[in-house]
Amino acid sequence: MSATTETPAATVEAADTPFSLELSEEQREIRDWAHGFAEGVIRPAAHEWDEREETPWPIIQEAAKIGLYGFEGIAQFFSDPTGLTMPIVNEELFWGDAGIGMSIFGTSLAVAAIFGQGSPEQIGTWIPACFGTVDEPAVAAFCVSEPDAGSDVSSLRTRARWDQAAGEWVLNGTKAWATNGGIAGVHVIVASVDAELGSRGQAAFIVPPGTAGLSQGVKVKKHGLRASHTAEVVLDEVRLPADMVLGGKEKLDERLARAREGRKARSQAAMATFEASRPTVGSQAVGIARAAYEYALDYARTREQFGRPIIENQAIAFMLADMKLEIDAARLLVWRASWMGRTGRTFENAEGSMSKLKAGEVAVWVTERAIQILGGNGYAREYPVERWHRDAKIYTIFEGTSEIQRLVIARAISGMHIR
Ligand SMILES: Cc1cc2nc3c(=O)[nH]c(=O)nc-3n(C[C@H](O)[C@H](O)[C@H](O)COP(=O)(O)OP(=O)(O)OC[C@H]3O[C@@H](n4cnc5c(N)ncnc54)[C@H](O)[C@@H]3O)c2cc1C
Repeated sequence: MSATTETPAATVEAADTPFSLELSEEQREIRDWAHGFAEGVIRPAAHEWDEREETPWPIIQEAAKIGLYGFEGIAQFFSDPTGLTMPIVNEELFWGDAGIGMSIFGTSLAVAAIFGQGSPEQIGTWIPACFGTVDEPAVAAFCVSEPDAGSDVSSLRTRARWDQAAGEWVLNGTKAWATNGGIAGVHVIVASVDAELGSRGQAAFIVPPGTAGLSQGVKVKKHGLRASHTAEVVLDEVRLPADMVLGGKEKLDERLARAREGRKARSQAAMATFEASRPTVGSQAVGIARAAYEYALDYARTREQFGRPIIENQAIAFMLADMKLEIDAARLLVWRASWMGRTGRTFENAEGSMSKLKAGEVAVWVTERAIQILGGNGYAREYPVERWHRDAKIYTIFEGTSEIQRLVIARAISGMHIR
């Protein structure tokens, strides 16, 4: 068939097609608005906050002022029935800078936990509290990992004991690696209520701002994502009212009873949150990769050696072609998983894990090549690509390492208990 022949496909009206990757006008507007903030506010501040290794509160406040950070903003991004607005906004902000992006979006992990497992009253009260107000924005933390429980979340040592006489929960333990840990207002803490049940005996608890017994431990000095605060959280006899367990005590008691009888679990506190958030985390990695690719492309066009732009060498041009290819492939996996998650489809082949795995590895791979394309300048702090490479590396580690994602995918596709 010649290229000019009208194919049957060309006569199909867009409205009749059940599938489209065309963004809606609203999605494009939100994307451009987020991009404007990333370009105008986040990126110019990125180097400074990376060097300071501090939470960029003035930028969080700027984001709150324009509605990018806050309950209404996140509700709007989430309400898109295609599921694409959340990853689109994340890609843009992390294109601006990942450390600052994480300071703005780190709160959303606690929000996802409350939204996914909380009662309507808990959602209505505690999600807005995670963000604070425009004048006094707050951040929130979601604390699962511990010094001896990283990939293996079933082995948590933090305990939540029910004090029958006082009608209160009592939490004790130490959480490791918590994004916003100790500086957050609301902390969501995953603790073991019945250690014998492993991850099925765990529950998530809301610890309100200013609760006695919760304190920050050691703040981590990191390789990348340095504008984002990461620290230990120490829980010493933290007392909470009965209704601070996500979903309520009654539901938890029922769930524990089912687990003790060996009946099937509906969900597990930590895993349910991670499953839902993985595509969004993947979109952050896509944002970093895209930043590095765009920068390297511009550089390769203008940098001359041997009397011609370095992009005229296939060695460089093919690298850029592969970078673009991998980024687009990663984004498509992210969009698929986001759409599946939002429209209630089951991740039968661990599509959420696939998206995060691919995007994280692409971000590391692309940023490393960007350094190569910039040569010595790529290795210098005066240029942003070394920062992007440092930032990218976390995406093969947190929210499940690449090995754990492969394990999840391998188990899903095989139905076998792969170790
Ligand atoms: C910057 C940063 C922010 C973070 N933010 C948070 C947060 O907000 N909340 C939170 O709860 N946690 C957070 N984490 C923790 C993060 O989720 C963990 O670091 C991660 O889950 C890995 O755990 P680990 O570091 O203990 O590594 P380990 O579990 O000890 O793993 C070490 C290595 O062994 C491999 N490995 C382990 N088990 C297997 C297996 N079965 N098969 C194959 N390989 C395996 C891993 O893939 C890895 O390569 C954060 C971490 C960092 C660095």
